[in-house]
Amino acid sequence: MWLKDLNKKRVAFFTVLGIVLGFLIFAGARASLQEDHGTHYHANFALYINGQQDKFDNFTFYEEVQSCSAEAQNNPRHRVHMHQPENHVVHVHADGVTWGHFFANLGYGLTNKAVTTDDGVFADGDGKKLTFFLNRQPVTSIANKVIESGDSLLIDYGDGTGIDERYNQIPSDAHEYNTKPDPAACSGAETLTFSERLKRAFDFTN
Ligand SMILES: [Zn+2]
Ligand SMILES: [Zn+2]
Repeated sequence: MWLKDLNKKRVAFFTVLGIVLGFLIFAGARASLQEDHGTHYHANFALYINGQQDKFDNFTFYEEVQSCSAEAQNNPRHRVHMHQPENHVVHVHADGVTWGHFFANLGYGLTNKAVTTDDGVFADGDGKKLTFFLNRQPVTSIANKVIESGDSLLIDYGDGTGIDERYNQIPSDAHEYNTKPDPAACSGAETLTFSERLKRAFDFTN
């Protein structure tokens, strides 16, 4: 009888211990995952079709305040986007984001052979050429390239003239943006402190 009681107590004790440990491991894993929310850096870019710069003159190309909320973290658009009014600054909010991802989020298409905009598909042919200039270097493959902090990319479709001038007109202020929070209160440039991460880990609404 006495032994049976002890066993029951033991079972109860280890059950509770197991639940507490399980919860702590779960919360700990969440706390370390919160680090991803700290990813935030910038790149510069410009897109020209036949000598005309695409100015992205529509609010749909930009992320608004609500897309920066906690629930939006799982939205692919949150990972990489622009904020009004800068049409030359790419905001990267996650790891492993490529130039192809960015163009997909704009509703455009980017492969190494063609760029698709609201005006159609532009690919090599008829004396026209698609050129990528990344950090002053011509590159042939860009779509699957991870966007790096401070990158400067020119995508140019045309007869191949004036590319240097257009590249030089891209503002190089990506590093400047790395030091300030986003206009729409997206996660700022600051990294999360341990207590902030714990707080977020235990806040199961996000
Ligand atoms: Zn930003
Ligand atoms: Zn943002």
